[in-house]
Amino acid sequence: MPGTLYIMATPIGNLEDMTFRAVRILGEVDLIAAEDTRHSLKLLNHFGISKPLTSYFDHNQKFKGERILQALRGEKNVALISDAGTPCISDPGFNLVRAAVAEGIAVIPIPGPCAAITALSGSGLPSDTFTFVGFPPARQGKRRTFLNAMAPLPGTLVFYEAPHRLEETLRDIREVMGERQVVVARELTKIYEEFIRGTVGEVLAEVAQGKVRGEVVILVAPGEAPQENALPLPELLERLLNDEGLTVKDAAKKAAEITGVPKNAAYAEALRVRNGGTEC
Ligand code: SAM
Repeated sequence: MPGTLYIMATPIGNLEDMTFRAVRILGEVDLIAAEDTRHSLKLLNHFGISKPLTSYFDHNQKFKGERILQALRGEKNVALISDAGTPCISDPGFNLVRAAVAEGIAVIPIPGPCAAITALSGSGLPSDTFTFVGFPPARQGKRRTFLNAMAPLPGTLVFYEAPHRLEETLRDIREVMGERQVVVARELTKIYEEFIRGTVGEVLAEVAQGKVRGEVVILVAPGEAPQENALPLPELLERLLNDEGLTVKDAAKKAAEITGVPKNAAYAEALRVRNGGTEC
């Protein structure tokens, strides 16, 4: 029987967020694969765990992944941890999990902290539907293309971002998506934890003062449903007459205000729409 691969979440700042189960399993496995062994040693020392450690990070994952698979084939149990939070979530792990699954090796995730979910749960933004989009591209051109593709998605958008790119990314969000509500969740679970809420412009004003430091998650509220003024005149009139039940006169007046079309033209069109599209 091959060993088991445990995908182990660890704290994103506050060590009290380590779960009992995580501590127990880390104490039981044969090998711990960590993104940065020196960083993880501090965590392991804190919980009195002493186990063989090996590194597994972006640039050695092909070679190290094979070594870890060999250990698993040799009936060793292995725990994978990242520097903070849940492995595989904008952190290494996916390739190893995929390879283990392909070989029929048992993969057991040990849930715990994740900055995206922690930020969303405290943001006050809609959480019934959301999309985690990871890190936006670092270069502005690619970032704007990326943001354009994300803009029409339903629900809240959750981004990771490096602190030194926070301001430029917020500027691009405003440029591409308009004045949406956003939340910047910073230093989650740590002493200076803070949620900065407002329109993109308001949050940008605060960020531009240079006082927003530390790790951040950006959350962007869903875009508005298509605006009435974006509708062609006949559809707008149809909505005003049939859905809102306005009279021809009132519908024409409102449509003229929304679209800027002359009142008499809006009135003629409203009559036409009311008569099922036939000229009167
Ligand atoms: N795997 C991790 C997780 O489950 O959250 C994420 C790792 S990713 C390399 C690092 C990014 O996560 C940071 O750039 C930041 O966007 C976010 N992050 C991690 N810890 C955070 C914290 N304490 N407060 C706010 N954001 C955090």
